[in-house]
Amino acid sequence: MKASDYNRIIRSLLKDEFELIRECKDGDLTAEFRHKKCGHCFTRTAQEIAYNGLRCNRCYGLSREETLYNLQEQQALEIYDKCMKKLGPGYEVKGDTSSLDNEIEVVRVGKDYFIIKIDDLLNDRNLPEYLIHCTLKEKSVQMQILQNFVKPRYELLSDFSSLDDIISVRDNNAEKILKVTVKDLLVQ
Ligand SMILES: [Zn+2]
Repeated sequence: MKASDYNRIIRSLLKDEFELIRECKDGDLTAEFRHKKCGHCFTRTAQEIAYNGLRCNRCYGLSREETLYNLQEQQALEIYDKCMKKLGPGYEVKGDTSSLDNEIEVVRVGKDYFIIKIDDLLNDRNLPEYLIHCTLKEKSVQMQILQNFVKPRYELLSDFSSLDDIISVRDNNAEKILKVTVKDLLVQ
């Protein structure tokens, strides 16, 4: 995606809360914001926004990375990130991720949970059926980023190169496949 596409997405996240001081540029997907309520200015990359949403650290505490870093060792953080990248949005991981041999609880938010050994999860062993289809192929960077911008009920099934492309999306609440443009998906 081009920087202008990211900027369009970012602008839709500002609401009345944030002011966009500096936009993303091609080659530097870093934007700068001001939190209107407290005046705090901060920079975020498009990837960080995709991961954490847009929020003010001064008002809402430490970022996810800082919190996790304080709580866990570096290796546990890396394994945790691998699990979350594998699972995608709509899932939470609970338990000690300091070793690949540990068992963790994978929660499908609003649904159920299952227990799995981390090594099995990362290597596609003993996966529940509903996870198998989304682990078959690696998602592209823009798919991962868009996936984090859309509602958790939607799961992207095809790649795209512009906001006008028509893509296949699985609606996990209605259990059906939709064909929509990226643009339309963002306003769902
Ligand atoms: Zn603030």
